Amino acid sequence: MMGKNTPPSSLPAPVQEETLASWLDRVYIHSDSFHRRANRRSVLGAPWRNVSGLLPYRLRVFADSVGQHFYSDTELLTLHTFYPYFAATMTDTAGRDLAERIFSGGRGPLCPTREPLSLAARPDVGRYCLQCQREDRISLGFDVGRRYNVAPFVTRCPFHGDFISVLSDGVERDLASFRWKESQSATTRRNAQQFARETQRLLEGCGATLMTCRHRLEAMGYMTKEGSLRVKQLVDESRAHFADGFEDQALSRLVADKEMLRRAFQRLSDTRRSIHPAYLILLNLFTEAHSSDVPTSEKTEPSGVWRHEDLRKSAVEGCSSVTAVARKLGVATTTATLLLRRAGLADRFNVRQPDDGIAAILRDLEAATPVASVAAHHGVTPLRVYRLMRTAPGLIERRRERAYVAELKLRRSTAEAARTTDGRVITAAEFRGTYRNDYCWLLKHDKEWLRVYLATLTRSAVSASRTGRSSLTVEAAASEIELLRRAYDSATQIDERRPYRASRKRVAKTLKLNDYAVKIRKELGLLVPAEDDEAFVRRRIEWVKNLSPDLNIGSSERWLKKAGLRRTKNRRSICVAAARENVDA
Ligand SMILES: [Zn+2]
Repeated sequence: MMGKNTPPSSLPAPVQEETLASWLDRVYIHSDSFHRRANRRSVLGAPWRNVSGLLPYRLRVFADSVGQHFYSDTELLTLHTFYPYFAATMTDTAGRDLAERIFSGGRGPLCPTREPLSLAARPDVGRYCLQCQREDRISLGFDVGRRYNVAPFVTRCPFHGDFISVLSDGVERDLASFRWKESQSATTRRNAQQFARETQRLLEGCGATLMTCRHRLEAMGYMTKEGSLRVKQLVDESRAHFADGFEDQALSRLVADKEMLRRAFQRLSDTRRSIHPAYLILLNLFTEAHSSDVPTSEKTEPSGVWRHEDLRKSAVEGCSSVTAVARKLGVATTTATLLLRRAGLADRFNVRQPDDGIAAILRDLEAATPVASVAAHHGVTPLRVYRLMRTAPGLIERRRERAYVAELKLRRSTAEAARTTDGRVITAAEFRGTYRNDYCWLLKHDKEWLRVYLATLTRSAVSASRTGRSSLTVEAAASEIELLRRAYDSATQIDERRPYRASRKRVAKTLKLNDYAVKIRKELGLLVPAEDDEAFVRRRIEWVKNLSPDLNIGSSERWLKKAGLRRTKNRRSICVAAARENVDA
């Protein structure tokens, strides 16, 4: 048995920020396996196929075979996958679930939240920051695929700020330049750089989480204390902020589309829902840029270095808590605590709630009262309430359960009350339209009850037309006509290998479009092009002729045989027609 701390010499150590795919490739080079696929299968315990590059799963198998020589499995999760990135927008429970699924695996790729605009082609090409690459080659001797190289919507190196170059050519390069364009505009570049840096902060687990983001929005007045969002205002102002767009064309389109942003931001008002991290990053950039607009209740002293000798009683006069002191001095809370302690003033602020006060708070918490109102009622900070809540075992779960039951009751009664309006029973479509939130909630949590309820309503005469649909998907698809043409051209190019029919599936594969993207395009009336039989047969025959120009086989029958094509009546006539054109020419 090999000891935990003595990695076998043949196992290459991971490089900082390296993706698992990149590391696996280096493990493969050093292994005695001939096939990359077989090697990946052996260390992952399953084929790599369907494994997301961002969130590879069955990590525990990998940890047992290779990873354990370098890391604990949690380190593996946070240092080499996109787990911290996605976890930033999830609740703790959802985050833990995701981690468990990454560790033990499941069927199909993990997809915590669908990437916005997932219908747009995201070329699967190698992209590198040239400076990073140069440094790696000098210090390590090989190239490293890092997390930011594959991060959604990132076009710049978070460390150097350089544009991430595409290292392939042909249709792959076309495809990439269709999506990522290096910009000369200073604001667009700045946007792209900031986006990359914020993405990197999420990956390192030190970015602002969804919770922080909500607090900031609240402070800026976009969100009320109760959690309802001034969505229109937020959408308008964030659109204005990113008016110059990004280097990732899909992201530029995203920030320009009202409907898409509205739908995403709307989710913020429900604390149990998560959004794609790309939206969180956009909001973080937006709120950070505007945080100077936040009215501060107390005047902040010019920030200098504070020493405890300078801290007089008068300096902290009027402050009721350590937080207030910190705000007044312009330092972090921990620093303020330290200063107060050294200055011997700590006792004044160590305002512990008397025990019966704590009991009262806990009682309120048990009754599932919102934290904000508990804090206001007892005159403590929400943070203190949260801390107290964690000390009581099972309290959080009980609150959640109670809140859930209460919500269930409320939603059901709302639906029941809505049944008759103006003396008639409403239709299902009307219910969906007018009580959209209730409908969605019930559909998610109480499907069976909703089904029974809907059956009691009047049947809709006509199917409800969809409203508020984003124009973005239509635009995004339409702007790709040129791309589709190029992909089709490249799929039908004659090369030395035997030409194959450029079927729809083949063209989609060239574009790295998934089935979902193809389906959406079809719904939008934008079919992925496919070669018809005649064009294909002619191309095959042309290829045979090019291969052996002196060959002269009279009948169409034999031409088809030579070209390796199944002989049908239709194809024979295509052959004859082609031969006649040749003679005419
Ligand atoms: Zn770089």
